[in-house]
Amino acid sequence: MNTTGATCVLRSEATLAESPFWDVENHALWWVDIEGRTIHRFDPQTRANKSYYIGERVGALVLRKNGSLLLATEIGVANFDPRTEAFEVLCNPDDRMDQTRFNDGKCDPDGRLWAGTMGLASTSQSSGSLYSFDSRFQIRTHLKQVGVSNGMAWSRDAKTLFYVDSLSRTVDAFDYDRTSVAIENRRPIFTVPEEFGIPDGMAIDSNDKLWIAFWGGWCVAQIDPFDGKLLQKISLPVAQVTSCAFGGKDLTALYITTARYGLDDTEVQGQPEAGSIFVAQLPVGGLAPVLFRD
Ligand code: CA
Repeated sequence: MNTTGATCVLRSEATLAESPFWDVENHALWWVDIEGRTIHRFDPQTRANKSYYIGERVGALVLRKNGSLLLATEIGVANFDPRTEAFEVLCNPDDRMDQTRFNDGKCDPDGRLWAGTMGLASTSQSSGSLYSFDSRFQIRTHLKQVGVSNGMAWSRDAKTLFYVDSLSRTVDAFDYDRTSVAIENRRPIFTVPEEFGIPDGMAIDSNDKLWIAFWGGWCVAQIDPFDGKLLQKISLPVAQVTSCAFGGKDLTALYITTARYGLDDTEVQGQPEAGSIFVAQLPVGGLAPVLFRD
């Protein structure tokens, strides 16, 4: 198996960097630090990183066409306008939100936000759900009893949703019906080898191959979702690899987020770049991220 490396593009001590999102129009990378309760905008050209303190845990963000962001937070889905820094909670699907928080999220091919939750306490093992939100913020519940709702990716033909519940240690596929906005026929397509740790966020390339970040696995790996084969690996100098997204001029730069969460002081000393943002230049690209459709 081919193994390559990644370059640190932004040295950061983020506790839990996640949800990289490439802004195609403005050539910038948005990302969140969930436990830092902040979101960030990194400009790879100038290397400037602007931080916005939100004050709530933000599990994921997506851009809206109007330049605002939708944030999946621990108190619900919120709008954030980076120009005014105005923050407004729009809806909250879960009346047990004091026991859960939003984690990973992404827009489906038609511009709805999909975001899943996870239990805040380690005892609430399957208190998470997977929801979607359309342009009128109508809420659909797609899954219940989720452990830690994580990576999502749709195949190019939009007929398959790939999904990670980290606690199941599998990557699953669903048939996706974009007309009825329904998922069914869940099946595992990849079972994670022990040394890869736990599957976390993911991206899909233009050949429908998945790039999966492995928490505790020191890598991102490319998987063929149709035969479950491990194709290649990007190794990282940090253990907690959280998510990845295609960006850059031609969408061939894979931006990778990492974390310090779960590391003790000695481990942090051995991984001084934990919490930083990395990039790997790939021979294959991804598609532009789907914006939320208002
Ligand atoms: Ca995640």
